[in-house]
Amino acid sequence: MRLSRFHLHTTKETPADAELVSHKLMLRAGMIRKLASGLYTWSPLGLRVLRKVEGIVREEMNRAGAVELQLPTIQPRELWEETGRWEKFGGQLLKIKDRKEQEYCYSPTAEEAITDFARQELSSYKQLPVNFYQIQTKFRDEIRPRFGVMRAREFLMKDAYSFHLDDASLVAEYENMKAAYTRIFTRLGLEFRAVQADSGAIGGDASQEFHVIADSGEDALAFSTGSDYAANVEAAIAADPAPRAAATETLRKVETPTQKTCEDVAALLGIALARTVKSVAVMSADGAFVLALVRGDHEVNEIKLGKVTGLADHRMASEAEIAEYLGSEPGFLGPLNPRKAIRIVADREVAALADFVVGANEKGFHIAGVNWGRDLAEPEVADIRNVVAGDRARDGGELKLARGIEVGHVFQLGRKYAEALKATVLDENGKATVMAMGCYGIGVSRIVAAAIEQNHDEAGIIWPVAMAPWQAVVCMINPKQDAAVTAAAEALLAELQAAGIDAALDDRGLRPGAMFADMELIGIPHRIVVSERGLAAGTYEYRARAASEAENLDKAGLLHRIA
Ligand code: ATP
Ligand code: MG
Ligand code: MG
Ligand code: MG
Repeated sequence: MRLSRFHLHTTKETPADAELVSHKLMLRAGMIRKLASGLYTWSPLGLRVLRKVEGIVREEMNRAGAVELQLPTIQPRELWEETGRWEKFGGQLLKIKDRKEQEYCYSPTAEEAITDFARQELSSYKQLPVNFYQIQTKFRDEIRPRFGVMRAREFLMKDAYSFHLDDASLVAEYENMKAAYTRIFTRLGLEFRAVQADSGAIGGDASQEFHVIADSGEDALAFSTGSDYAANVEAAIAADPAPRAAATETLRKVETPTQKTCEDVAALLGIALARTVKSVAVMSADGAFVLALVRGDHEVNEIKLGKVTGLADHRMASEAEIAEYLGSEPGFLGPLNPRKAIRIVADREVAALADFVVGANEKGFHIAGVNWGRDLAEPEVADIRNVVAGDRARDGGELKLARGIEVGHVFQLGRKYAEALKATVLDENGKATVMAMGCYGIGVSRIVAAAIEQNHDEAGIIWPVAMAPWQAVVCMINPKQDAAVTAAAEALLAELQAAGIDAALDDRGLRPGAMFADMELIGIPHRIVVSERGLAAGTYEYRARAASEAENLDKAGLLHRIA
């Protein structure tokens, strides 16, 4: 690739609305340009990186035995009505009408569409197990799109869905996918952790998230050094419902509810509060109810109890979702003040709360901390330590905390969708059996931003080789005046490409300083400078992006270094 014929457009200034380093650097490198809120154009440069990530994801999915297909992004209302998610999905679902007034949505995820495909295609146990995947654009009308492609509205996701005759087969494929994800994130050169996600009523290991470790991550993660316990703090806080039944009894006896602080109520409910947990929500596996402890007006905590119908596939209520279901304005949730009194105005509300918790226990409801703060100050770290350690340091291990960016999520869905859509196959005895399902997502476009959060310096991006737009760049000094330099640089480019190295030639004719600054900003792992002086000495100046010094190498030494 000759950069004179490629569209590179770097800029020095950073836009005011770009908070995260990855967002700033993607804009400065000219990888993305904003079209509208949460909608980004991937420039030729950005797309090269996106395609590399996509390529690795595809290779490893194929290696794991999954088979690629492609579902439509626009999907009919009727299909989403069959699972009840047309209503339940909430505000993130973008609804569209065609000229005949027929209603559709833009797919935020594709359980319905794949299960519709499966019920048409699969009729016998002999066709199982099977894992279908696609790498396809998704749309979620995020209430607060931000950080560029990190939390966009339109984004690229790899979503896979597996179908099974029995649970054992589902569990085996779930493990297979976890192994594939581990290979994917390892090949991408990222520091990551698989953590227990909040899996709601299904419990256990039925849901895990893969996080890229980065201080800017929106999720707080907890690890123990004493075992391989690792969890999203949300999930860690949600775990262990044991004390709740007893607490509920106590709650019934509360006589002066107005004196209860937020901490008291949390204790009564058997949940732990951390300051990073800005509110607490309780919901059923099917999303029938939500209870939120929220900061109300005038800094007084309030309890909001609502009957909701839209959280079917959410293990965790987001601020926006709670707001939506309680009919409040977005942004109404603030940090809880655990020591301030909670306003429960009437005894009847306590009774309602108690009934709610009793009902919740019986129906396998779970309690979850909702956490969407970004900055983790020392006191908050201490809080989480208290909360999680109380529960988890039983293994004797030291508790470590880190921030993470969710880049992947694997989940044992069970039979919920197959049941709703009547997706059955005949088993060995010719009996119609509802299939078990797993689903496995990867945020392909988010990975690009997450990688930058983890790999950058003052000069710009430092790509892991596997996802760099080019592995190497050949820079020519004084190309216009010096035909020998041009010829040598072109020959070197051809040689690198013949050796299977994805290389580019910077023949734009920039001054060395500007040329090097661009290559550092866009993060090319290997830079080779061809100059008159080098040619005379029979060497090339080589510098790895992450290295502080350049060195002069002969051709063999150079190829050895890059390969
Ligand atoms: P988050 O907690 O960040 O909102 P999610 O749990 O809602 O993500 P999933 O439904 O698990 O997302 O989707 C699978 C993957 O898609 C996520 O792990 C994430 O990497 C990616 N993803 C989800 N929402 C977005 C978004 N708005 N922009 C970019 N990537 C996203
Ligand atoms: Mg989400
Ligand atoms: Mg999530
Ligand atoms: Mg998720």
